[in-house]
Amino acid sequence: MCAAATVLRDVFGFDHFRPGQQDIIDAVTRGENVLAIMPTGGGKSLCFQLPALMRDGVTVVISPLIALMRDQVRALREAGVEAGALTSGNTEEETEQVWGALDAGRLKLLYIAPERLASGAALGMLRRIGVSLIAVDEAHCVSQWGHDFRPDYLRIGELRSALNVPLAAFTATADAETRDEIVARLFDDQKPQTFLHGFDRPNIHLAFGAKDNPRRQILQFAAARKGQSGIVYCGTRAKTESLAAGLREDGHLALHYHGGMDPEQRRDTEVRFQREDGLIVVATVAFGMGIDKPDIRWVAHADLPKSIEAYYQEIGRAGRDGAPAETLTLFGPDDIRLRRSQIDEGLAPPERRSADHARLNALLGLAEALKCRRETLLSYFGESEVACGKCDLCDAPADVFDGTVAVRKALSAILRTGEWFGSGHLIDILLGNRTDKVNQRGHDDLPTFGVGREYDKRQWQAVFRQMMGRDLIRPDPERHGALRMTDDALPVLRGEAEVSLRRDTIKSTARRPAPKM
Ligand code: ADP
Ligand code: ZN
Repeated sequence: MCAAATVLRDVFGFDHFRPGQQDIIDAVTRGENVLAIMPTGGGKSLCFQLPALMRDGVTVVISPLIALMRDQVRALREAGVEAGALTSGNTEEETEQVWGALDAGRLKLLYIAPERLASGAALGMLRRIGVSLIAVDEAHCVSQWGHDFRPDYLRIGELRSALNVPLAAFTATADAETRDEIVARLFDDQKPQTFLHGFDRPNIHLAFGAKDNPRRQILQFAAARKGQSGIVYCGTRAKTESLAAGLREDGHLALHYHGGMDPEQRRDTEVRFQREDGLIVVATVAFGMGIDKPDIRWVAHADLPKSIEAYYQEIGRAGRDGAPAETLTLFGPDDIRLRRSQIDEGLAPPERRSADHARLNALLGLAEALKCRRETLLSYFGESEVACGKCDLCDAPADVFDGTVAVRKALSAILRTGEWFGSGHLIDILLGNRTDKVNQRGHDDLPTFGVGREYDKRQWQAVFRQMMGRDLIRPDPERHGALRMTDDALPVLRGEAEVSLRRDTIKSTARRPAPKM
């Protein structure tokens, strides 16, 4: 047995490495600069804790959350490892202990909060104690356009060059921009060895559905899974309450959960969910952070999540025990409009906003995917060679048709009306409906009037939704959500690109009888 495997067993009490752990541990132990991208819960901490024990000297661990540091220190000490933390949360006694162990040369892992790096004293101290490795947890905190930017993280680069020791950075954030920023700021642009592992959750079945009657769709999904623990995510607080009530009427055990409830009620729901079998929680995204329930059998989204990362994290709460779990994510044009306007109306700087649009686009691409969802999802995270067989598109391949002509007709309706209208009115024009609005504006004189009678209203709605999903058109918040063409649509308009559309999402939402209410 190799030395690392012995430490794994004797100190940490695990029999096997998780996928990817061993390669990372070997590289970090050898003293290489490493950037490791692993999903939350994938087992990142072991990838610096174990090498710390294999190497001489002290490993400094920089982590943004005091509570997390304390948990890790406690767990390490229980395992008999000399570890300590220097944070603002320390008692004097704890700090003394850390210094004692450092002076005696016993300490193996020293956790420090990033704000400590701001003081010049910290560097002098770290120089004295014989640091042999720097580990940076949640390394995306160094990214200014990321979600949890920590200015003090910017000092880590200086620390690395001052100490001249290898650095291992860990994060669950996989998008390319963040990754590049981490490399630039922490490694001074010297390419670290990069590992990306473990994003696949093979036991989770992935499925999307076009919104038809979302309440009925969710109730049907739950009815087929009676007695199993599940989460339904909703976009609004009101919807969590009404859907939970609907589920109860259907005979399920269901509770709602959102940020507007008082903390005791919320705590109560969390505890019940954790303890009871077969409970459904209908929640906003406020639910889930602290939930560590291994046997959640399904996760449904009644509304589209805000980004591909959020989607991944939310469905990832299902099936932690490795047993089969199922997901269903509903989406429609209103979701797309809402998510776009949340980004546009947010206070983020322009660069960040365009990154957020890109993250939303990635999710829409997944929602409108024509082939395997898992391949599409994991290729976003940079992982390749995926065996799936567990998604709706592997179960039944998408029925695709050449939608170029339909898309051109729709674009033409948009352009000829000056990009001032939403899909409802545009569809009336395409169908040749003489509504009041059509008559008032004289839109029955347009060459586009009535050219789309080969489809009905629902089918045109699906075409518009797919066009939004491909980012060929976008609602403009400054024009009350009127649809406008994006640059990506130009090649289609010019006849230089074709567009495949899914037929099955047009008729997807099988017309089954509504369940009894
Ligand atoms: P994160 O990647 O989110 O930092 P952690 O390092 O906290 O994840 O690990 C998540 C959980 O997985 C922890 O409970 C940890 O003890 C466990 N774990 C890590 N590696 C292994 C392994 N090789 N075998 C079994 N459990 C492991
Ligand atoms: Zn698949």
